[in-house]
Amino acid sequence: MAEKKEARIGVFICHCGTNIAGSIDIKALQEYAKTLPNVVVADEYQYMCSTPGQGKIVDAIAESKLTGVVVAACSPRLHEPTFRMASKVGGLNPFRFEMANIREQNSWVHMHDREGATAKAKDSVRIAVAKASLLEDLFPKSVPVEKAALVVGAGVAGIQASLDLANAGIPTYLIEKSPTIGGRMSQLDKTFPTLDCSQCILTPKMVDVGRNENIILKTYTEVEKVEGYIGNFDITLRKKARGVLTPDEAAERGYVGGGCNGCGDCAGVCPVIKGNEFEFAMAPRKAIYIYHPQVVPNIYTVDFESCIKCGLCVDICGDKKAIDLEMEDTFETVKVGTAILATGYDLFPIEKKAEWGYNRYENVITGLEFERLICASGPTGGHLVRPSDGQTPMKVGFVLCAGSRDNTGVGKPYCSRFCCMYSLKHAHQIHEKIPGARVYLFYMDIRSFGKMYEEFYYRIQDEGAKFIRGRVSNILEDATTKNLHVFTEDTLLQRPINLELDLVVLASAVQPVAEEDTIRKLFGVSKSQDGWMLEAHPKLNPCGTTTAGVFLAGVCQGPKDIPDTVAQAEGAASAASIPIHTGKVELEPYFAQCMDEKCAGCGMCVNLCPYGALALVEKNGRKVMEVTEAKCKGCGTCGGFCPGGAIHMQHFTTPQIVAQIDAFLLGGEQ
Ligand code: FAD
Ligand code: SF4
Ligand code: SF4
Ligand code: SF4
Ligand code: SF4
Ligand code: SF4
Ligand code: SF4
Repeated sequence: MAEKKEARIGVFICHCGTNIAGSIDIKALQEYAKTLPNVVVADEYQYMCSTPGQGKIVDAIAESKLTGVVVAACSPRLHEPTFRMASKVGGLNPFRFEMANIREQNSWVHMHDREGATAKAKDSVRIAVAKASLLEDLFPKSVPVEKAALVVGAGVAGIQASLDLANAGIPTYLIEKSPTIGGRMSQLDKTFPTLDCSQCILTPKMVDVGRNENIILKTYTEVEKVEGYIGNFDITLRKKARGVLTPDEAAERGYVGGGCNGCGDCAGVCPVIKGNEFEFAMAPRKAIYIYHPQVVPNIYTVDFESCIKCGLCVDICGDKKAIDLEMEDTFETVKVGTAILATGYDLFPIEKKAEWGYNRYENVITGLEFERLICASGPTGGHLVRPSDGQTPMKVGFVLCAGSRDNTGVGKPYCSRFCCMYSLKHAHQIHEKIPGARVYLFYMDIRSFGKMYEEFYYRIQDEGAKFIRGRVSNILEDATTKNLHVFTEDTLLQRPINLELDLVVLASAVQPVAEEDTIRKLFGVSKSQDGWMLEAHPKLNPCGTTTAGVFLAGVCQGPKDIPDTVAQAEGAASAASIPIHTGKVELEPYFAQCMDEKCAGCGMCVNLCPYGALALVEKNGRKVMEVTEAKCKGCGTCGGFCPGGAIHMQHFTTPQIVAQIDAFLLGGEQ
């Protein structure tokens, strides 16, 4: 450990244009830094992350024989790697670098208090110098990476990511909780703005997944446990009892030539009828079922909650021996180097906005129900009808922002991002299919931001759709006709509106899937304020997470349409493939270390470690604690707990933390 008196620290202060210099007196801060113990250089520059800015650090390390570098600039999340690299180029161990955040935590929040901000910046720099004076050389640990990846969720995001990984030669486990792949996109009829058929563009990709030799598809399967770290994740999967064997599973049981071939005879004889979830219960299914004819894989599933175990399906399946009504969940553990989460979204339960009458009024439906009703393969063969009487609706209203951009505490405060565009698409589909129909869109703003989206908006206006700017306050049903009275204010004409319509479609908000919290926690991923999974950095690392080796794709990270979903999936696949192709990763060396002579072998820390990195071992005839460095995430729990002070936390040592506290509390007096 370097002695304080030996330390030679260089301080470099960034203006960030006027981002920092606009609120902090840089000259005063520089003069102050020169007075701090161990500081031998105090410099400033307009943009420290620029090449000349980094050059200042490189030159000063050699010229002033620096033992530590402090940069007072933005958040370490943004530029710590940049300045570590500059320190390394200058010949210093990169972990002898410390950053003082005087932008996000200072100039941006104290922009009207120059004096106070400058005083706070002095505190930050003083604290950083105190730590930098005690920093030690550290060396990252290199670990090999398993040549396999895992993708959770097989909507269009998960499908695209898996295909990219597989085509890059990486064996990829694709895990889908439902019996089939495709996600929400397989429920859509056409897609904006090109109006190409959703199934037609998705089905080839679904078939490719089934055929790709590098994709190990596991449907009706969920992630049960996650252990390990980047390069070496051990993922335990729960394969839910499907009640039906694939041909491979049948072969494993010795029924060669057996297994499900998707003939559907079993569903034909099954006496139990249920609502088909894929069709929002607007069509039936049996207790042994597939959701729709294009499912991948084309294997039936037994719904054990409604099956009465009559055995009729087993009899008719006969020699194929595909049905096992006593099947139970099974578990397996797979080893992968990286993982992508692509768990998508659910609809916000729009019945919570009681004023619009969803679930009370038959002719109030959601956008996804509209998709199924207008789809040729849907429950009505593509004929849009009113649920109450099967009649063709001639006056249809669309309520936009239904439950989105809602600060009442009932709905979601964010914009769901694709509902403006799909409502425009729905308006077009009505004009196309029902001559003479009148369409009203009740909107707050129309957000048509993508490529050719604004042009699509003009096209729908030209087709005759009426746009009424105002939030719908209430919908009331005429009990006799089942027509709906929509109440709102036209805020452009400033007059109240009461329109009688045949059908109302709610462009419901979207929200994370119910299980997202579970999957998130299993992989150690955080969530943002709005509940979606949190990316590592919104601009510079939108596919990464704070857990190394875990990436995000699609709507699970926030609402986005299909083009953005596919683009992010390709980005996530590329990012997830890099460690696998490199073959090894470097782990930050913030490990706990046990000082054997101080360890009493009490074992109390072992169960505290959230990552299972600690174990008691026998050394020289007594028990001491041992750290598996590759598993340790440097969280500090054991270090903070150990009653004997036997744990040394690299880069966050007790003397370093005490020096920071002293520097803050004692200020200039130390
Ligand atoms: P999803 O499609 O939701 O797929 C997620 C998958 O993950 C699902 O299969 C789910 O079962 C699975 N899953 C979830 N949790 C787990 C778990 N724990 N374990 C395993 N699997 C799990 N976009 C357009 O660009 N054009 C359009 O025309 C269009 N129309 C739309 C119309 C409506 C009414 C709606 C609501 C949306 C529309 N969209 C449209 C948006 C489009 O649906 C999304 O962009 C797209 O489906 C996002 O794909 P995804 O893979 O991220 O999520
Ligand atoms: Fe701005 Fe950070 Fe770059 Fe300085 S180092 S110019 S604070 S982004
Ligand atoms: Fe046909 Fe048997 Fe499969 Fe049912 S389980 S679809 S009867 S092969
Ligand atoms: Fe249907 Fe179950 Fe009877 Fe099979 S055993 S036919 S799935 S009710
Ligand atoms: Fe409202 Fe349009 Fe945003 Fe959807 S996309 S929440 S309809 S503004
Ligand atoms: Fe006990 Fe501390 Fe040793 Fe852990 S490191 S076994 S808590 S003495
Ligand atoms: Fe486990 Fe300690 Fe490492 Fe935290 S710092 S991961 S508790 S060994």
